[in-house]
Amino acid sequence: MAFARAFVPFPPSSSSRPSLLFLTISHLSVPFQSIRNLTVSASSSALNSSASMEMEAPKTHRWRPMCLYYTQGRCIKMDDATHLEKFNHNYSADLKVNATCLNRLRPQDLDYLLVLDLEGKVEILEFPVLMIDAKTMEFIDAFHRFVRPSLMSKQKIMEYIEGKYGRFGVDRIWHDTAIPFKDVLQEFEVWMTNHHLWEKDQGGSLHRAAFVTCGNWDLKTMIPKQCKISKIKMPLYFMEWINLKDIYLNFYKRTATGMMTMMRQLEIPVWGSHHLGIDDAKNIARVLQHMLADGVVLQITARRSTASPDEVNFFFGNRIR
Ligand SMILES: [Zn+2]
Repeated sequence: MAFARAFVPFPPSSSSRPSLLFLTISHLSVPFQSIRNLTVSASSSALNSSASMEMEAPKTHRWRPMCLYYTQGRCIKMDDATHLEKFNHNYSADLKVNATCLNRLRPQDLDYLLVLDLEGKVEILEFPVLMIDAKTMEFIDAFHRFVRPSLMSKQKIMEYIEGKYGRFGVDRIWHDTAIPFKDVLQEFEVWMTNHHLWEKDQGGSLHRAAFVTCGNWDLKTMIPKQCKISKIKMPLYFMEWINLKDIYLNFYKRTATGMMTMMRQLEIPVWGSHHLGIDDAKNIARVLQHMLADGVVLQITARRSTASPDEVNFFFGNRIR
C-alpha cells in the first residue's frame, strides 16, 4: 500500500485505486498498473447473426478508471493535469455510439433506460445508475453514490468495506463519501426530477423510463430488503424493471447466466473491475447498447403487484430462473 500512496498521490491518505485494480480483457486478468497505458481495442465482430458492433469506436480506446470522487460529486482535482490524465472524468468516454450502429435500431416504447447495478449483500454499498436514451442509444447522465449501511457496527463496516472495496483500492474513497441509503434515495429523486423521469406528486412511477438490471436480484430482492432495514416504504419507481438476461434469452435465443457470459458471447471486451458497481453498470450499459444496435425492442420483464407488493409477476414464459 505504501507503494500505491507514492504512485498516485490522491487523495493523500488514500490507498489509491490503480495499485490493486485488475482489468479483465478477453478473460485475461493482469495487474492494472502494468497495463494502465495499454490501448484497449474494441471488438469489431459480434454474433454471426447480429449487426457488426463497432459501437465502441474510435477503434482504439485507452481505458482509464473513473475518478470515484468525481462520481460522488467530490473531486477537487479538476484542474490537476496529472490527475485528469490518470482518472476518467467523463462517463460517456466508454459509452460512445457510432452512427452506423443506428441502422437496425427499432422504435422503442420507452424513452430512457436506467441501468442499475447494486453492490452489497448484507446491505447496499453502492448505487450506480446510468441513463441511456432508448431512441439514440446515447449516454445521457449518471448517478453514483456509495451507500453507508445503517445497521452494521463501525467495526463490521470496516471489515466489510476492506473485503469488498479494498481489493480494488477504493476503500478510502468509500469511507470518505458513503451516505445512508435514505439520503441516497433523496438525492436520486432530485436527479430523476431534474431529468423529468419522475415526479413525486404524479403517482411516483417512472415516466417513460425503466430500470435495466442484469438479473432480478437488484429490484426483486435487494431494494425491498434495504428499504426494510432503512425503515422506508419502498418507492413506486422500484415496482417494475427490465431484466436484460430475459430480453437477451428471448432475442438471441441463447442463455446467458450473467454479465460476463453476455459479454463473452457478444464479444464485447470487459473494461474495469468486475463487482465494482460503477464499472459493472457501464459494462451492462455496453451490452444494452449492443443489443439495441442489433434491433432488440425492450419491454418490462417484471412488475410487482400493487395489491400485494411481495408478489412479482414475470412477463416472459421463457426466462432465466
Ligand atoms: Zn477527480
